[in-house]
Order: sequence, then structure tokens, then C-alpha cells
Amino acid sequence: MVLAELGGSISRAIQQMSNATIIDEKALNECLNEITRALLQSDVQFKLVRDMQTNIKKIVNLDDLAAGHNKRRIIQQAIFNELCKMLDPGKPSFIPKKGKTSVVMFVGLQGSGKTTTCTKYAYYHQKKGWKPALVCADTFRAGAFDQLKQNATKAKIPFYGSYMESDPVKIAEEGVERFKKENCDLIIVDTSGRHKQEAALFEEMRQVAEATKPDLVIFVMDSSIGQAAFDQAQAFKQSVAVGAVIVTKMDGHAKGGGALSAVAATKSPVIFIGTGEHMDEFEVFDVKPFVSRLLGMGDLSGFMDKIQEVVPMDQQPELLQMLSEGTFTLRIMYEQFQNLLKMGPIGQVIFVFSMLPGFSSELMPKGREKESQAKIKRYMTMMDSMTNEELDSTNPKLMNESRMMRIARGSGRPLRDVMEMLDEYKRLAKVWSKMKGLKIPKKGEMSALSRNMNA
Ligand code: GDP
Repeated sequence: MVLAELGGSISRAIQQMSNATIIDEKALNECLNEITRALLQSDVQFKLVRDMQTNIKKIVNLDDLAAGHNKRRIIQQAIFNELCKMLDPGKPSFIPKKGKTSVVMFVGLQGSGKTTTCTKYAYYHQKKGWKPALVCADTFRAGAFDQLKQNATKAKIPFYGSYMESDPVKIAEEGVERFKKENCDLIIVDTSGRHKQEAALFEEMRQVAEATKPDLVIFVMDSSIGQAAFDQAQAFKQSVAVGAVIVTKMDGHAKGGGALSAVAATKSPVIFIGTGEHMDEFEVFDVKPFVSRLLGMGDLSGFMDKIQEVVPMDQQPELLQMLSEGTFTLRIMYEQFQNLLKMGPIGQVIFVFSMLPGFSSELMPKGREKESQAKIKRYMTMMDSMTNEELDSTNPKLMNESRMMRIARGSGRPLRDVMEMLDEYKRLAKVWSKMKGLKIPKKGEMSALSRNMNA
């Protein structure tokens, strides 16, 4: 079951329970059984699922909950907490700092996505102003250097490797030395993989580690192996000081949930997940926002980060101010659409709204970006036929039928399109209103704030 489906199944189970006239033992059990089924289908280990179920039942004691308690909320919160606990990966052993040289060595089996992930990791940091560099010490797989070179060139990241030299230790040493001299702050060493865990692989890893003295060793693994990730993560941990894990191919693989929970069970901190073949299909893994999103509860911290990333600097304070006031006018929607369309290839951009809690991806479903773009342009054409009063109004009753007809005529669109656009507006306004009271961060406080919001 791919992650989106897993999240959907769990949310539906909670929703169904909420729809029950009385939330009693039976309704709760049905909900938990549904969730259990979904998790097992994602290849989550049976024991983890069983523990989760037992814990929820212990926390949610229906008899003790006096009338008036919002049982649905309490149960949802318990499910959220237990999923977080199940996926909690702990903290990495080392966190590189911008401007200070760090050597990061990547290890993993062949085909796990190691080389791709090295570039994604470099690119992610480069976008944030770091000076990364890539060293290809994979002399085992033919074509590994070419692949790294191609990726690095595309991303304009300096790289080092050799077609002639067959000693990975020598290449790694030389590469690291060179980039230290060039003052790179993130020197990434890609090492060889093998088809399976074997002595030769572990020995080579140890030698490269000894020569380059990495500050952090990142183990890359493919999520499609599901709960078998437990044994693989353990084996690598025992052979080299794995400080962090990146789980790849979380897009479209049925066993992603199983892999993530299995890695967490080995107490190996997952720091990123790979969600596609492209360079920017790479996400920071942070358990609470991840579970929030999985359950369709939105992702506030991601939202704040995204605002920083996609909204022009000079517009950020204004946008936050409007959010904190909770008022959402058609003009704000228009301006946000403008931002969205300006941001270039739409498939690469996550609309700021989509990060808000409760926002469904209806407006911009993944894979249907072209249609979404056309829809947004259509909405904007209709809004062009609105008066200032209509655009700035906060009165939902203002948009009566005669105004809607006028807008339809003015924009040459059928009335039902105008109604659809206004429905979309209402939906977004509802989501927006949840941000009311948002504390506006001072300069440089964004990340701290986003962390607090998810705490
Ligand atoms: P390596 O042998 O471990 O270095 O693996 P590669 O980096 O060559 O990756 C193996 C294959 O997995 C390539 O076809 C990659 O494009 C693909 N790949 C890597 N990461 C991801 C990911 O997150 N999602 C998907 N769908 N494919 C990925």
C-alpha cells in the first residue's frame, strides 16, 4: 500500500468511527482493526502494530471519558501519537553545519539509490547556500562515476572521481583532500555497493571510513524491502558507525510504511526520504509533520518552511499577517494564485495552501498539474471580472446570484464555473481561518516557530 493510500485508509477509519452515533467499544475496535489491516498491508511488523493497538486501548478508556469529552479528538490524538512513536527515528549522531567542513560518507547496497541520493543531498544543501562537493569512490559498479558526474554537472556541483584508479580508498582520500582545500563545507563520499551484504563490502566501507574519517555515515536503503529493512539496517549498523539513514523510493512502493517503521525500530535516525527519481524529489523526514500529512491533518512546520521558500521575501510578513488575522478574501486568493503561477514549472512547486492543515490536494493533485494550472487560470479570469468590493469583502452573503451572473457574463464562463470557483474559495477560507492567532515570527525565527507549532 503506497503511503498516500495508507494515510487515506487510516483517515477513513477514523472518519467512519466519528460518523457512528455513539463511539463505543465496538466502534473503536472496528476503527483499530481497519488501521491494523492497513498497516499490515504496508508490511509493518505485526508486533509493532499489535503494540500500537494495545497502547491506544490503554490510553483511550471509553468508560472513563465523561460525556462532553470529544472522544473522536482523543482517539485521533492517541492514534497520531502512537504512529509518531512507531516511526520516531531518533536523532542523527552528527548534524553538519553550514560554513564548517564536514565529510559525509554514503553507504548502502547496489541499486538502493545511493548515487542518486548523494546528489539529491548535495543539491538540497546547495539550494540552502552550502558549498557541497561529490566524491565518487564507487569503483565496483561500472558506470557509477559517469552517473555521478552527469548528476553533479546537471546540478553544478563540483565532483571528483577517476576512470583509471581502481582503489576506492585512494580516490576517496584524494577527493576529500582536494575539496577541503577548496573550502567546501559538505564533502559527500559515494562508496561502492554490492548486491547483498557481504564481507568484501563491509571491509571496503571500513577502509574508506578509516581513510576519510567521516563526520557522518549515512546508510541509504530502498523502501521496497519493507520490514526486511530491520535486518539490513542492523547489519550495516554493526559494520560501520551509521549515524543517519535515508530511505529511498517512498513514492509508489507498497511497503514504505513497513520500511520506515522497521528502520525506526533499529533506532537508526531517518533524516530524509526519497520520493522520486528527480533531484528535488527528496524530503526532510520529520516524524510529526510526516504523520500529520499522512493523516491529512496538514503540516504546519512544512508550511512555514515553504512560505520561506516560495513566497517572495518582501511578501512574507504581509502573508503571515493576513494568516494570523484569519481573514481570507478573494483578493488574497487571487494573489496567491499569481504567486503560484509565477513559481515556474508547476509540478515542482507545492502550493503553500496544500501545506495547511485540512487542505486536501483537490486543487492540485499530483500528476495532474497541467489541468490544475488551467483551472487556476480559469478562476483568475473570473476574478478579473469582479469589483474591488467583491474582491475585498469578508461577507459571504455578498456574492448573490445577480453578481455571479454578471461575473459569468464578464468572463465568458458558465455560471457553474463561477459557483465552483466560489466553492473553492470557501473551502480555502475555512482552512485559512484555522491559522487565526498564528504568532508572527521575527526575522530568523521561522524554523523555531514551525517546530513549536508541531510540538
Ligand atoms: P545505487 O546503485 O545505490 O547507486 O543506485 P542508483 O542511485 O543508481 O539508483 C538506482 C535506481 O533507483 C535508479 O534508477 C534511480 O533513478 C532510482 N531511484 C533512486 N532513488 C529513488 C526514489 O526515491 N524514487 C524512485 N522512484 N526511484 C529512485
